Amino acid sequence: MEYEPTAVGVAIVALFGLLVGSFLNVVIVRRGHDDWEQRTGLNGRSACPKCGHEISWWENIPVLSWLALRGRCRGCRNPISWRYPLVELLTAGLWGAVGATAHGVPELVTGVVLLSVLVPVTFIDLQLQIIPDEVNYAAIWLGFACSLGFGPQDRFAAGAQWWWLEVLLASFGAAAFLLLPTLITRGRGMGAGDVKLVVALGAFLGAPVAVGLMAGFLVALVPSIVLIVVRGVAAGRKSKIPFGPFLAIGGAVGWFVGPQALDAYLRLGS
Ligand SMILES: [Zn+2]
Repeated sequence: MEYEPTAVGVAIVALFGLLVGSFLNVVIVRRGHDDWEQRTGLNGRSACPKCGHEISWWENIPVLSWLALRGRCRGCRNPISWRYPLVELLTAGLWGAVGATAHGVPELVTGVVLLSVLVPVTFIDLQLQIIPDEVNYAAIWLGFACSLGFGPQDRFAAGAQWWWLEVLLASFGAAAFLLLPTLITRGRGMGAGDVKLVVALGAFLGAPVAVGLMAGFLVALVPSIVLIVVRGVAAGRKSKIPFGPFLAIGGAVGWFVGPQALDAYLRLGS
C-alpha cells in the first residue's frame, strides 16, 4: 500500500492523533489514578469525581472543550488537569511528525503505534513511578506484530534477508543491555518495567534501538546532574527519577533519526 506525505495527508494523520490522544487520556486516567475523573469503562459515561457532574459529548472534544471550559468542571468549577489537552496535542504532534516522514503504510502504522504507546508510558511513570504490565505487554505484542507482520522495512539495518532476526536480536539485546544496570542498582534507578519497555522498543525499531537507548541515557543524565548539583551527591543518589519517560524520549529519537544515525556510525567504523 502506498503512503507518501502530503499536506492533506499529514493533517488527517494529526487529526486522528488528536482522537487517539483523547483515548490515551482514558488509559492514563484508568491506570494512573487521576483525581479529577473516573470512568466506569471505555464506553462508560465520564463524571467529575468531586461533584458527580456527567460529562456530555461537547465537554469531551479534544483540546477545544478544555479551552471552552477554561480548564474547570462545569458543575463545581474545580480545575481539570492541563494534562488532558497536553496529551491530546502531544499525540497529534507525534502523529503529524510520523505522517510527515513516513513512506509507505507499514512505516506510517508502525510509527504512530509506537509513539502512541510511549505517551501513556511517560505520563503513568511520571505519576506512579511504574510502567503497568498491561501497557508493556501490549507494547511488546504491538511491536512484534508491526515489525514482523509488515515484513522488511526501510528502517531495519540488516539486509532484507535477515530483517526478522534483527528484530528479535534488537529486542532481546536491548533487554540484556538494560538488565545489567537494573541488577546493579537493584531496581532503584531502573526496574523490571523499564526492561520490558526496552523489549518493546527493540521490537518496533530493530537495530536502531541502540540509538534510542543511547539517546534515552543521555537525556536522563540531565535531571540526575541537576539534582546532584542542587542537592549534593548523597541526595542525588537517593532520589528516584522514573526512567520510563527517558526511554520513551529515546524511543521517539530512535524512530525519527535512528536508522540514519546508525548508518552514519557504521560508516565511520569502516
Ligand atoms: Zn465537578
